[in-house]
Amino acid sequence: MPVPEPVVLAFVAIFGAMLGSFLNVCVYRLPRNESVVAPRSRCPACGKPIAWYDNVPVLSYLALLGRCRHCRARISVEYPLVELAVGLIWAGAVLWFGLGFAALRAALLATLALGIALTDARHFTIPDEFSLGGLVAGLALSLTPGGLGLIGAGLGAAAGFALLGAVKATGDWALARGLIRGEELDQVLEEGEKPTTLGLGDLKMMAMIGSFVGWRGVLLTAFMGSLAGVMVFLPLLLLKRRSPVPFGVFLAIGAVAAMVAGDWLIAWYASLITASVP
Ligand SMILES: [Zn+2]
Repeated sequence: MPVPEPVVLAFVAIFGAMLGSFLNVCVYRLPRNESVVAPRSRCPACGKPIAWYDNVPVLSYLALLGRCRHCRARISVEYPLVELAVGLIWAGAVLWFGLGFAALRAALLATLALGIALTDARHFTIPDEFSLGGLVAGLALSLTPGGLGLIGAGLGAAAGFALLGAVKATGDWALARGLIRGEELDQVLEEGEKPTTLGLGDLKMMAMIGSFVGWRGVLLTAFMGSLAGVMVFLPLLLLKRRSPVPFGVFLAIGAVAAMVAGDWLIAWYASLITASVP
């Protein structure tokens, strides 16, 4: 596969950074049920609208030294970091897959995964705009060259929803019988809400992932996501810090792993199985 021209990569990275800027808006506003289109972005401290020249991804943050032009309030470093990350995601996807639809599908899934990880980590919620909106995008992109096709993407979505649905049903059953404890969830639950192991948002997110990676990718995502979850939460458990688990964060990690290295990992696993059969 020919290496893309540096100028192409630069344009893709700039496009990604601009998309990252929009992702920041989504991550801030969607959990608050605010429109992501209007009004224009404002400084959360002084309320003054942010001019376009103060809204250039990454560069404006550096030029303003991380402070609002008007009131000098600190701007979270998360904004330029997300812009940088999405810029790198899109450039990295083009480097990995070449300029084409495979890169578009991978970059979009990774961007959605990042948005979900950020909202889930902070608000323990996964906005439908990311999960269901992403599902529609995944189904549509399955029809592009090299895609899974509508049946493959639909199967993947159904498999993702069903797999996590089964995990949730089992977990909630154990929770209801006191086999596992759920009182640490109380702090994030609304009044009268019952504690559950997985939210409906996790199921919808997995359906979205499935529409991008297919049913094999779903299994891989669940496996890699659980592995990442165990690696992070086992040390936390050992430190006796009990906290609710934003499972979407780990599914996001698993989805990106499945998208980037899925074919390779599945081929490797299949070779292990066939090698062990005499
Ligand atoms: Zn301000």
